[in-house]
Amino acid sequence: MGLLSSFRTISKLVKYGYLAYEHVDDLQAIRKALKAFLAFTVGSDGDVDSDSYLSRVLNETRCGCADVAAFTDGTVTENVNSPYKWDMAGLPIKIWIDALPGMSKPSWDSVLKDATSMWSDVCGVTFEIVTEARVAELIIVSAAIDGPSGVLADCELPTGIQRQRALKMRMDRGESWAMSSINRMLSAPLVVGHELGHGIGLMHIPVNKGTALLNPMYNDRLTGPTQLDIAEAVGRYGPKRVIVPTPIPPVIPVPPTPSVGYSYVIRSDSPISIDGHRILPK
Ligand SMILES: [Zn+2]
Repeated sequence: MGLLSSFRTISKLVKYGYLAYEHVDDLQAIRKALKAFLAFTVGSDGDVDSDSYLSRVLNETRCGCADVAAFTDGTVTENVNSPYKWDMAGLPIKIWIDALPGMSKPSWDSVLKDATSMWSDVCGVTFEIVTEARVAELIIVSAAIDGPSGVLADCELPTGIQRQRALKMRMDRGESWAMSSINRMLSAPLVVGHELGHGIGLMHIPVNKGTALLNPMYNDRLTGPTQLDIAEAVGRYGPKRVIVPTPIPPVIPVPPTPSVGYSYVIRSDSPISIDGHRILPK
């Protein structure tokens, strides 16, 4: 038996939501789940009996969150438009970022600014970056996930747990993080932006629906959310909030005081002088 029914394949199908535990011995269910996994993650059902193909797809760098919401026997439930969202009545989500590996703290702060604007620029969600973890509602920390490549990061969804404690986003400390995808380094803004999509309630968007920041695989050709992601975000939070500045009352110009007309009476018997020139009365 090839890679199709290997422990590695099955554990990934279970982890990402395609296969229920009770079906891990059912070859037909595994095959069906694997086809669904390939359609979702690479946009094609591929050749599930080709070990080299499967090995390549299963090793692609990706997010560690599940692709489908509920365990199934290989029939993927439609998971986009999930009900997960923050109900904050317009308040900002408070985020705190730890000092993460590979870059300085100011660089990670700047990554977070970029990632939060990816969403606050396109929908009605807003964020506040806080300096104390204890007041945060979403925290970003480093974690030893699986070493270089493979799973890059993950983030909890706002399924209600955020009412008890802060949601957690984990960045794999085994990766080489950078401000952009250069020299085989990973773009931290792109990955934090993707994970923050989960943080505001979005689930993965299947590749066979189109290119999206919330596709499960890392795609360094993207720079931020696409129309598919934006539709999901706007569906939850409405369009971008436009801050209307408090109107300043117009300044009503004060008309100049009309000059008072003076009339001079020059007495014929009194000489006057202007600028020192003596003028004699006529
Ligand atoms: Zn993800």
